[in-house]
Amino acid sequence: MSAFIDARTIPSGTTQTPDLAIIGGGPAGIALAMALADSKLKILLLESGGMNFDPAVQKMYAGSQTGYEPLDGDRLRYLGGGTNHWGGWCRPMDESDFEVRDWVPSSGWPFGRAALEPYYPRAQSLVEAGAWAYDQGGNALATRHGPILPLGKGGVYTSWFQFSKMRGDVLPTQFGHRYEQDLRAQANLTVWLNANVTGIRLAANGTSVDHLDVATLNGRQFTVKPRYTVLACGGIENARLLLVSNDVVKPGIGNAADLVGRYFADNPIPRDVATLVVFGGRLAPYYRDNQDMGHGAILRATFAPSDTWRRQARVAGSLTTVEQTVVLDDVGKAAVATTAAALGVDASSAQAWSLGCGLELIPDPDRRVTLAPEKDALGLPRLKLANSISDEDFARYRHTLAELGRQLLASKAGMLRINCTTRDEWMKNMDWGHHHLGTTRMHDDPRRGVVNSNAMVHGVANLYVAGSSVFPSYSASNPTLNLIALTLRLADYLKAVMA
Ligand SMILES: Cc1cc2nc3c(=O)[nH]c(=O)nc-3n(C[C@H](O)[C@H](O)[C@H](O)COP(=O)(O)OP(=O)(O)OC[C@H]3O[C@@H](n4cnc5c(N)ncnc54)[C@H](O)[C@@H]3O)c2cc1C
Repeated sequence: MSAFIDARTIPSGTTQTPDLAIIGGGPAGIALAMALADSKLKILLLESGGMNFDPAVQKMYAGSQTGYEPLDGDRLRYLGGGTNHWGGWCRPMDESDFEVRDWVPSSGWPFGRAALEPYYPRAQSLVEAGAWAYDQGGNALATRHGPILPLGKGGVYTSWFQFSKMRGDVLPTQFGHRYEQDLRAQANLTVWLNANVTGIRLAANGTSVDHLDVATLNGRQFTVKPRYTVLACGGIENARLLLVSNDVVKPGIGNAADLVGRYFADNPIPRDVATLVVFGGRLAPYYRDNQDMGHGAILRATFAPSDTWRRQARVAGSLTTVEQTVVLDDVGKAAVATTAAALGVDASSAQAWSLGCGLELIPDPDRRVTLAPEKDALGLPRLKLANSISDEDFARYRHTLAELGRQLLASKAGMLRINCTTRDEWMKNMDWGHHHLGTTRMHDDPRRGVVNSNAMVHGVANLYVAGSSVFPSYSASNPTLNLIALTLRLADYLKAVMA
């Protein structure tokens, strides 16, 4: 049996010497610990929070931000991390998401999707999203609920989201509560709750982690001296811990090239970007709502640009979903009537829906987190986030919407009106995915990345990073399934190097 220990009860001055310290018990940290259950490694998982929300702990996430949500509002600081309030939307990244795209500056992973392929089945099982039914699998299941919307030949196709265990009033998988018993049953694991890592201390030559400083909100302080450390504190906090740990190397750990905290991204979700009209009036229910397709899989259709067309048209990733029914005004009705007449189709039963979208942003070094002068309850500098979306991001997505509209006309199934032109219109109905990406980006060249292709912090042989902060380019797919697959790959790597 593993020990779950409330660190607030441990005497100050205690020192632990695990083989591996995992900092953070979100889905990345939990997936990593569980993937190493069959190893001989002695693992210590250090989690800042307890089993449930605690406002005093949560306050340590507060910072300041421009162009974004409050930093303590879109993260959760207790076991399970962000999965305590996630939406459960899952989709693997596309092949082209990994490629160096010359029209997307700073894009490209050091490996392709094939490197994650072996890990997706286990990741899918951990998020409890049922049988793998994305893309072709989804199409086959969808025939039960009516045909997919016919689109003329072109760049956009119907693709599929799946959902973490979200059936009726069952919430998506909350990793802390869902896997608590598995973690407790894991013989090689100790979990310290309410244990905040406040510094990663390097050896004097700066090339390895010597120890971690750990503190509790009731004043206890400990030292952990692990052989290896994995930082899994989430896409924003990973950067913060590296930046604040600046006693041996001045700009912070892994920050020789001034990259830690830069290239922050989320998937913006502009709403009501376009109005979709289906001349025949029928749109299969899986476009409008999550549908139980059997085999434990809940699906929702989305319009995605294909890999081939993304390369040709030089657009970024986007996933366009059907949102609400729209009642057309007189101008809209007239546009539908004249278009249908020109195409020679009957539009007397036409129906309209608004479309929303999850976008992939172009990497931008100026979108970044930096340390602020204010301190949290344990004396750590808070973060300041500068966020923005470029006009180019919108322009590329408009191109994808125009292609969808062209394909609808080509199939004579319907038409599209794009509703947003100016920047203000795009920003008016903007939501965020709360997906924190890019702040410790992966690249094998230390001048271009914070971690290498094995997620090791450049120059620090026993320090690794797990989570979406390592994504060098982002994809429009939601990150959690993908970051778990990447973490399982890291677990295999650590098993080999730490044996
Ligand atoms: C409202 C909302 C909806 C979302 N919906 C989706 C969705 O539908 N699909 C999707 O794929 N993703 C979604 N996400 C994103 C998802 O929650 C994250 O991708 C995921 O939780 C990241 O996992 P992680 O383990 O890397 O980090 P986190 O989940 O952030 O976990 C980090 C953990 O580290 C701990 N920690 C932090 N600092 C320290 C420290 N100094 N010492 C010790 N421990 C520390 C935290 O307490 C936390 O438990 C959503 C997020 C939000 C906020």
